[in-house]
Amino acid sequence: MRILITNDDGIYAPGLRELVRALAPLGEVTVIAPERQQSATGHGITLHKPLRMTPVQIDAPAAEAFATNGTPADCTILATADDRPPPDLVVAGINMGANLGEEVLYSGTASAAMEGALQGFKALAISVTAYESCIFGPAADFAAALARRMTDVGLPPDTFLNVNVPNLCTEDLGPAVLTRLGRRRYLNSLERREDPRGRSYYWFSGEPLESDAAEGTDISAVQAGLISVTPVHFDMNFRGVGGEFDALLDGLGS
Ligand code: MN
Repeated sequence: MRILITNDDGIYAPGLRELVRALAPLGEVTVIAPERQQSATGHGITLHKPLRMTPVQIDAPAAEAFATNGTPADCTILATADDRPPPDLVVAGINMGANLGEEVLYSGTASAAMEGALQGFKALAISVTAYESCIFGPAADFAAALARRMTDVGLPPDTFLNVNVPNLCTEDLGPAVLTRLGRRRYLNSLERREDPRGRSYYWFSGEPLESDAAEGTDISAVQAGLISVTPVHFDMNFRGVGGEFDALLDGLGS
């Protein structure tokens, strides 16, 4: 099995190394990851500057490892650079910090996996629910078990798995459950500050406000200490009962 490992926390992030160590026994691991922090860069791709892949040594058993100046989605696209055969599996992570609800829209980790799904590769994104004192071991073991299972069990087209693992030791961690995305709105307080030259600048300091943490959501699962596995599809078409937009275009145009 050919496995591409990428992330958005950067090539030297500890979660990436743990993932490489856990997945290396399954096949040939190639790492292509951003050279620096790319969290919350979403699904951007690089069109207006050269993309570089610099071979690097990482302290983990990857066949090849490259740092790129691109985004997480670029990293997935670069998997087939120089006529490399396509990966059988793309795994993004292990991210420091949960990716729940609408965070998948901002997450570089989720976007790298989504790009994999769009390219026709099996893909999963995996995150632990903490930014400090992260416990990566159980998440890495789960990624390996899930990756093994995915060799036999396919995913529907254009779909990836968004996995969130509570930051707990193995003995405190519950089983894996299938979930849907909840809602994790941010109270986007935009802090205005002044630089030493007297010019103003802004800094996001939003706090998450969990507005849909109902049973069955990814948020409720991780709150209960369970591993949340959400199948995510790129289709953002409005799903309603029908007729919600009839009045919008009534009499407009010719
Ligand atoms: Mn990140």
